Amino acid sequence: MSPSRTPIQRRQTSPVTVGSVTIGALSPIVVQSMTNTDTADVEATVRQVAELALAGSELVRITVNHESAAKAVPAIREALDAQGCDVPLVGDFHFNGHRLLTDYPECAVALAKYRINPGNVGAGEKRDSQFATMIELACRYDRPVRIGVNWGSLDQEVVARMMDENARSARPKDGDQIMREAMVESAISSAERAMELGLPKSRIILSCKMSGVQDLISVYRLLAARGDYALHLGLTEAGMGSKGIVASTAALAVLLQEGIGDTIRVSLTPAPGESRTREVVVAQEILQSMGLRSFAPMVTACPGCGRTTSDTFQHLAQNIQTYLRDQMPVWRTQYPGVETMQVAVMGCVVNGPGESKHANIGISLPGSGERPSAPVYVDGEKVATLKGDGIADQFKRMVDEYIESRYGDRPGVGP
Ligand code: SF4
Repeated sequence: MSPSRTPIQRRQTSPVTVGSVTIGALSPIVVQSMTNTDTADVEATVRQVAELALAGSELVRITVNHESAAKAVPAIREALDAQGCDVPLVGDFHFNGHRLLTDYPECAVALAKYRINPGNVGAGEKRDSQFATMIELACRYDRPVRIGVNWGSLDQEVVARMMDENARSARPKDGDQIMREAMVESAISSAERAMELGLPKSRIILSCKMSGVQDLISVYRLLAARGDYALHLGLTEAGMGSKGIVASTAALAVLLQEGIGDTIRVSLTPAPGESRTREVVVAQEILQSMGLRSFAPMVTACPGCGRTTSDTFQHLAQNIQTYLRDQMPVWRTQYPGVETMQVAVMGCVVNGPGESKHANIGISLPGSGERPSAPVYVDGEKVATLKGDGIADQFKRMVDEYIESRYGDRPGVGP
């Protein structure tokens, strides 16, 4: 099936510029990610940031947790620039961000955005002054901030105040509802404080991340109702493998469908040795499946059933999908519009020709008891019937030829 063409009514939000990227104001929803290297390890961090950017991450966040990390940030920026990677870097600060940004101005300049967690900037009077210092530095260096509230580090003073008020009310709400409202209150009151300190709304992005799908949906609905701030969407601590992907998709899809969300991050825990880029691919696939953006040609493949006689069709579907995605760093500029292409790889002729006709190019492999031939459709017309052992290679060649003829030599023109 092609992605839905029913337009999603997005929420109009205040635009925020982060380096060369615009977030909000109905601009394309931005995909971002975060490294898991020690930021002080310049080489490893540069390598991972570049990998994430190559995979399509449009912003990359790095943790800036101590002096050696802050010292490394300018070198990381320089090394990325030297290899032509201009992805904006976001600094993730907790507890000592006010001090690191003050003591290391080159770090403050090298970063395109600062992430501030209002629950982790300090306690009591220190919290206010340290938060103010970070905002004043953002104003001085003309950098946007994300005020990122997190369920695991929610400002306990806000919670205590709201719980007290609730206890005194004639019709108290349940504790979970108050916690959700406290998340939103922490974000909104911090944003208002930042504006009082001189940071314009066009320099503020908000997030309220939670680890429960229903909690996240409730909180972002509340947050969206409180103003037109640009919103960063993500399910925190989503988990590993399919659990993390499914939970993130479930939460983000509901909110995106309601027009909520200007930038997204999928917080997956990689398996040992697994590439960090998976979170980028998943974020892109969520947006593309919903028809919100296109990043790489999509392969429609049937699940297979008793009519498939071998795993040839599974191999072909996987090979084509991997091939198409791997080529995208080059194709993005060489073949404008190729990211919207649909390819169908089907296991037999029951649904194969139908799906193939809806795709730009599609193949139906022979199913059980069918003649050993594979009809190929291009733009809805049957153009060939492939036979023999080399069907996979022949089809791949046809895909390449299609891309060249449809998207080649048309700079800036999509299909
Ligand atoms: S297209 Fe054919 S092989 Fe694929 S699931 Fe349907 S009946 Fe089975």
